[in-house]
Amino acid sequence: MVGVLNKPAPCSSKASPTKGEGLIQRIRQVLAGVADPEIPVVSVVDLCIVREVTPERVCITPTYTGCPATQVIERDIRAALDAAGYREVAIETVLSPPWTTDWISEAGKAKLKAYGIAPPLPAGQRAVECPQCGSARTEEVSRFGSTPCKAQWRCRDCLEPFDLFKCH
Ligand SMILES: [Zn+2]
Repeated sequence: MVGVLNKPAPCSSKASPTKGEGLIQRIRQVLAGVADPEIPVVSVVDLCIVREVTPERVCITPTYTGCPATQVIERDIRAALDAAGYREVAIETVLSPPWTTDWISEAGKAKLKAYGIAPPLPAGQRAVECPQCGSARTEEVSRFGSTPCKAQWRCRDCLEPFDLFKCH
């Protein structure tokens, strides 16, 4: 990513919109191309890490306080904005209210499931559905999965292990 930062912006024959709705849409498109560092199939927009976009700034809320991924996400967003020619757009981190998995868009949840990660449960729901076969006969193997934000689970019907997105 350091290489991207140092590269001059590519010459574009098509002028970018520079203000108003068009600009916000364009910035959102750029952000939609920034993947979560831990789960590359979902973007920071799918996860609703991007809270607000204005022509001057992008407000982001980190998913996991203290998780090293937070710094990576901010760096990746900065690099994507710079590469698209939006060096003037500031990134502002907003900590309140805190991010919860309820914010993940339906599209984002579908992508997580397709990737084999059980989407987070709505508040109050306990049963974890197996992303492979849909069975609710699942059990936790370990609180600690491949990353701090995932827990390891196993399906008792198809016996497949899977990750559960467990933050909040
Ligand atoms: Zn299963």
